Amino acid sequence: MESKVDLSQMPEGAVPVLDHGYVLYVDAMGTDADIAAAARLSYGRGTKKVNKDEGLISYLYDHAHTSPFEMCEIKVQIRMPIFVMRQWVRHRMANLNEYSGRYSIIPELWYVPELDRLQKQSVTNRQGSSDDLVESPQYIQNEIDRVCRLAYGAYEAFIDEDVDLSRELARMVLPQNMYTEVVWKIDLNNMFKFLWLRDDEHSQWEIRQFAQAVAGMVKARFPLAYAAYEKQRDSVKLTQDELYAVVTGDLTGLRFSQSEKVRKLRAQIYEQSNNSLHDLCSYRKTNGQLEMFKASEVATVSVAP
Ligand SMILES: Cc1cc2nc3c(=O)[nH]c(=O)nc-3n(C[C@H](O)[C@H](O)[C@H](O)COP(=O)(O)OP(=O)(O)OC[C@H]3O[C@@H](n4cnc5c(N)ncnc54)[C@H](O)[C@@H]3O)c2cc1C
Repeated sequence: MESKVDLSQMPEGAVPVLDHGYVLYVDAMGTDADIAAAARLSYGRGTKKVNKDEGLISYLYDHAHTSPFEMCEIKVQIRMPIFVMRQWVRHRMANLNEYSGRYSIIPELWYVPELDRLQKQSVTNRQGSSDDLVESPQYIQNEIDRVCRLAYGAYEAFIDEDVDLSRELARMVLPQNMYTEVVWKIDLNNMFKFLWLRDDEHSQWEIRQFAQAVAGMVKARFPLAYAAYEKQRDSVKLTQDELYAVVTGDLTGLRFSQSEKVRKLRAQIYEQSNNSLHDLCSYRKTNGQLEMFKASEVATVSVAP
């Protein structure tokens, strides 16, 4: 049989993620200065000049002027479980190339969750896990490993020269937690869209670990743009009803998810300040931690970290 690709080694400089995964920074095009330069071009000489790149980039992101962010790109190499990859590829505005299971032998690497990740099904979120662990996490962990070994044994037997089943068919017996590798390139506008969704508590924990590793690389390369994105990401959008509930504490008529959002925001505000919530506007004027912008239907409240 052909020798197996040794993927047990991580490339130098890679950030380890989960038990065998990693994210490796490969390359990037542009810097924060390129975003600012593209924006200045579009505003032209006649418009009011924003001198500092930091202020300009923040303004652009706040006002959804996203095309200057597309002047920059970042490329990373990732080893992740196939079920994470299935979520990853839904982000269409990116380019990727994946390890071929038709051409090459799939390496003997699968993801086995840590014991404290073996949580029960959530009852409030049908897509998520609850905080409670299953009754016997050790048994489940052993079973995951045992079944993967069994499946990989069958795969190896199929591709052995005695049987010589093609790799493209033999791989069918392998589970979704096998690791795969991709090289992935995306512009900064779509990177932030990706991070907004995947570096978020509503995303599956595993993809979030990879998204956080990627976020660290984006932050290092594009610190001003990342700060602008982070500021928006950490802001909370409120409908008029929700805003009323934040100020008054009256949750009547709100859906469960809205009430949760309001409760969380009120707790955050109380934590950051001893002030009451009677007047958000005066709160903004007095200590500057909370800002309120009121549009026709929706208000945005930004809470300082
Ligand atoms: C928590 C969570 C749960 C999810 N659950 C499911 C699920 O159960 N089943 C499922 O199938 N998917 C699911 N998804 C995937 C989700 O529906 C999106 O496909 C995925 O998040 C990619 O988002 P996107 O289209 O914004 O990204 P991209 O494809 O990268 O697109 C980026 C942006 O480009 C623009 N764009 C891209 N394509 C088009 C287009 N064709 N027309 C117009 N504009 C376009 C849009 O502005 C878009 O926001 C889930 C995602 C998350 C975060």
